[in-house]
Amino acid sequence: MSERQFFGHVIDGKEVPSADGTTFEVWNPWTQEVWADAAEGAAEDADRAVASSRRAFDEGDWPRLGRAERAVAIHKLADLMEERSDELATLDTTNMGKPFAQSKHDVGRSVWNFRFFADHQRDHCGEVYPMDSGHHSYSEYGPAGVVAAISPWNFPLMMASWKIAPALAWGNTCIIKPSEDTPASVTMLGRLATEAGFPPGVLNVLNGHGRPAGSSLTADDRVDRVTFTGSSTTGKHVMASAAGHLAPVSLELGGKGANIIFEDADLDNAVHWAVEAIFRNSGQICLAGSRLYVAAAIYEEFMARFVAAAEALVIGDPFDPATKFSSLASRKHFEKVSSYVEGVGADGGKVLTGGVDEDGRWLVRPTIVADLPLTAPAYCDEIFGPVCVVNRFESEDEVVGLANDTRYGLNAMLFTENLSRAHRVASRLRAGTVWVNCFFIRDLRTPFGGVGDSGVGREGGNFSREFFTEPKAVVMQI
Ligand code: NAD
Repeated sequence: MSERQFFGHVIDGKEVPSADGTTFEVWNPWTQEVWADAAEGAAEDADRAVASSRRAFDEGDWPRLGRAERAVAIHKLADLMEERSDELATLDTTNMGKPFAQSKHDVGRSVWNFRFFADHQRDHCGEVYPMDSGHHSYSEYGPAGVVAAISPWNFPLMMASWKIAPALAWGNTCIIKPSEDTPASVTMLGRLATEAGFPPGVLNVLNGHGRPAGSSLTADDRVDRVTFTGSSTTGKHVMASAAGHLAPVSLELGGKGANIIFEDADLDNAVHWAVEAIFRNSGQICLAGSRLYVAAAIYEEFMARFVAAAEALVIGDPFDPATKFSSLASRKHFEKVSSYVEGVGADGGKVLTGGVDEDGRWLVRPTIVADLPLTAPAYCDEIFGPVCVVNRFESEDEVVGLANDTRYGLNAMLFTENLSRAHRVASRLRAGTVWVNCFFIRDLRTPFGGVGDSGVGREGGNFSREFFTEPKAVVMQI
């Protein structure tokens, strides 16, 4: 990948530059080199993309295709993604620095997102209510219209696919704006949609920054749904902008996940998942287990094993198969994560292992912090990096209180071999997803989303159907 690449917008089935020809640089965070340029979307480009998707929805075949036919088209795109999975994974790894094996895994999950939603809409059934009055009432789920989807950089392809797949499956047309940090794999997805024979305008890719590219999409009254994944702060802007034309929003936002290790946990399993939960993807996961609570009775033993496992992670070039942990995704993000780590000492915390790397890379080593006051920024804020803050607890009530004492509520994990406790605590945790004795496992039929600053609405299975369609009641006298 030595030649500098270009990622344009994909509009009406063609890859095009911005109307005024402006571009921005795309970086490789491991080598710290610019390896590509991308089209910098302006209001005029957003207008072009929305007009194209509007036309495809109002006049094109896609919303009117039979369900089985639409499923076939989406499976064809999934087939192409599978065939080109090495290329897609190479783009994600080059673009944001995650180990190549993880990128391959993410591409696999992206393919599955398309296949799942294609089949889900094909096989779904609505509700029918025979009424006592002699009427017959049933529901119908028609496409909502034009969807604007905005995605972050931490799972460039996977996060986008989680939005595009249900939007298209339910007969909508869609404009995706990937993060300005990671335009590559989503642009390639747009190219593959053209190759798969998708009608022009069904899937458009608009590259560029949040403002003006993203904000032009959310403010456009030809857009019928806005689905956004990103930070809580941006989510509030997106919601306010969409409110201007009353477009329903789905917001998947930040998190500060609690991970609770009870004294009866299977420690091998708990250590394994505690490491995955905070150090996978260099901690750049909304679902990260960034607040760890360990029962006092096992604190010393657990921590010795957890620290040793963190120190054993192989750090290096993300294309080296041995690498399990690599740099952060950008210089800007490295500076943000570093500032939290550097503030730990002054706030009274102790770094047990890790810290900011000093060899000039954008690297923060797997970092574990103890003794932080519960008001410290590193304890309260989403750092979105490989920094785990640890506390010990004495009782179930105490740890539920600690876990729930956050403005976020995306997910939580708990480790215990006591079945009653598992159900009891899972039910008391204020979070959209609770994992018991595991992490990061998804069933696409279940609701996904967050409480509080972690989001608005749920996606997945029928929850995606509610969002991406206009449900209608038909009432008939019989
Ligand atoms: P971000 O909010 O900075 O950007 C996300 C996207 O929004 C980007 O494409 C960006 O260009 C765009 N954007 C920025 N300003 C905009 C505006 N005013 N109008 C429209 N679009 C705008 O977030 P990020 O740094 O890319 O991603 C990290 C965040 O995403 C973290 O907070 C993380 O927790 C969250 N996240 C959440 C989930 C989830 O499922 N809940 C998943 C992944 C990431």
